[in-house]
Order: sequence, then C-alpha cells, then structure tokens
Amino acid sequence: MKVLIADDELVALRLLESSLRRWGYDVVVARNGNEASQILLSPDAPKLAILDWRMPGMDGTQLCQEIRQNKPEPYTYVILLSGNRDQDDIIAGLDAGADDYVTKPFDPAELRVRLRTGKRILCLQEQLINSREAMRDLATRDGLTGLWNRSAILDIIEGELARALRQGVPVAVIMADLDCFKLINDTYGHATGDAVLQKAAQVMRDSVRRYDSVGRYGGEEFLLVLPGCDPANAIGHAERVRAAIAQIDLPTPKGNVRPTVSLGVAVSSIHSASDPYELIQTADVALYRAKDGGRNRAELAAAEPGICTR
Ligand code: GH3
Ligand code: MG
Ligand code: MG
Repeated sequence: MKVLIADDELVALRLLESSLRRWGYDVVVARNGNEASQILLSPDAPKLAILDWRMPGMDGTQLCQEIRQNKPEPYTYVILLSGNRDQDDIIAGLDAGADDYVTKPFDPAELRVRLRTGKRILCLQEQLINSREAMRDLATRDGLTGLWNRSAILDIIEGELARALRQGVPVAVIMADLDCFKLINDTYGHATGDAVLQKAAQVMRDSVRRYDSVGRYGGEEFLLVLPGCDPANAIGHAERVRAAIAQIDLPTPKGNVRPTVSLGVAVSSIHSASDPYELIQTADVALYRAKDGGRNRAELAAAEPGICTR
C-alpha cells in the first residue's frame, strides 16, 4: 500500500521512510505541505498519509482541512505527527480532519499498529463504496441487458430535456419494440428470447453515439435518448438501429433467429419545455404507425404543439 509522508526535517523524513519501507509500504515523499497537497489531490494519490504538524507553507492541520474539503473520495486516512503533546493541539488536529495523532519521536511499534488501523479502516471504506456502487447498479440497470432500467432512462430523459432547453437544442426519443417477439419466445423458447433481448440491447448500444442513452422500457421495448438530434438526424439514427437489428442472425438448436424491430421517433421542441411522458407517448404513437405499416420500419411522429418535426 502507498503511504505519503510529509516532513520538512530531512533526518526525521528519512527515518520514517526507512521504517515504512521495512514494514512493506510503498513510500511517497513530500518535503513540505504544498507538495503533499499536490500529491494527495492528484488522481491515484496514496490513501494513507503521515503529515508533520509543523511545516513551512501549508502545515499539517491546514493540509487536513484542504483534503477533507476538496477530496471526499477516495478517503485519505491522515495521521498527524508532532512533537507537541499538548491536548489542545491534539484536539485541533483531530478537529481539522485528522484520523489519528502520533507524537515525535515516534515509537516504531506504536506507529506500525496505528498504520495497520488506518489500513483496516480504508479497507472497510472500500468495501462500503463497492457495495454502494453495486446497489446503485442494481437500482438503475436492467438485470438482463445491462441497459438503463425504466426509471433510470426516464430520469435521463428528464435531465436531457432540461439541459437541451437551456442550450436551445432538441432531444430525440426513439421507442423501439421488437417485432413478433411473442412468436420468437413461442417458437424457440424463453431462453432464446432472452438471448435475443441481450443481443438487441448490445446492438442498440453499439449503434448510437457515446453521449446517447439506451434503456429497457418494458419487456421487449427500448427507449433511446439522443440529445441534440433534430428530426432528420433522429429518423436517420432510428433507421440505422433498425438496419443493425435486422442484421442479427442468432444460431439456436431450432434454427437461426432473425429478429426485427419497429421504431417510433419524437423530437422535443427547442422553444418550450417538453413533458417527458408526452414525448414518449408521441414516440409510441409513431411506433404503432410503424407496426401498422408492416413492422421492421421507423416512423417519425406527426407535428404536434411542442413537438418539433422540422
Ligand atoms: P409486436 O410485433 O406487435 O410488438 O408483437 P410482439 O409479439 O412483439 O408483442 P407482444 O406484446 O404480443 O409480446 C411481447 C412478448 O415479449 C410477450 C412477453 O412474453 C415477451 N417478453 C417480455 N419480457 C420478456 C423477457 O424478459 N424475456 C423473454 N424471453 N420474453 C419477454
Ligand atoms: Mg411490446
Ligand atoms: Mg413487440
């Protein structure tokens, strides 16, 4: 594990460095508070820091405050080192955000176990962050396809509409529904149906731009959100998605599956706020036209107040 040590006294610094190396730590050295601050605020910074209290420039407590203010995550575990045994100083150091306090000259056995405590706390914190991320993933991702789930894609549409209105650009919403999917399930089985959904999701994800979003709206229905896309571009995108899905040729023991998709496209107005649900509803009406028109096709929504078709 990497540890940053910061001290302006060279002898003390070297002594600390050699002890830490002996205990198996990778040591990063800073000669003053400003240098330590730069290192601790950089990406991939050490998560464990031993900071001298008194240093020219930024001292240990100021450094603690700076880190706590500007770098909430990943957490830096800070041990302050000082010759001062005054209780007020200890309180001030911990109050500034230090996690622990060791007086100089340090007792090696004591520092070693205090570092171990720091490592344990960092490890626990990492586990907490990982489970929080896993929870967030569970709450926003669709389990089968890995796409955004329904509530996440609705949140995205809402956010993109607000942003686009500020920027004076439209947002296109495409509702895509796999054709005759019930028949695929009935013919090839539910597991193959799932595999088709996964493949279709991957193809949709791959056929849009990096800043577009794709979500699973329902069973075999998907929503694509394309910020900054006018109607002509949006129908072009929908057509590309349609063609890409039509290229899928999935081998199964009962023969190859060749799914198709129908798509409805709606584009928000650049002049007034669009309601996300109305926009989806408009895309859905266009989707039904695509189904009625024979499936495996994309349709642009007809002009409506608040909806842009030019
Ligand atoms: P259309 O072309 O009009 O859209 O016909 P369709 O058969 O695709 O539409 P319908 O709504 O009749 O059927 C959708 C089917 O999708 C029925 C449902 O069982 C299936 N489905 C929904 N979710 C899943 C899933 O997670 N896995 C599988 N395998 N099938 C699913
Ligand atoms: Mg459907
Ligand atoms: Mg369908």
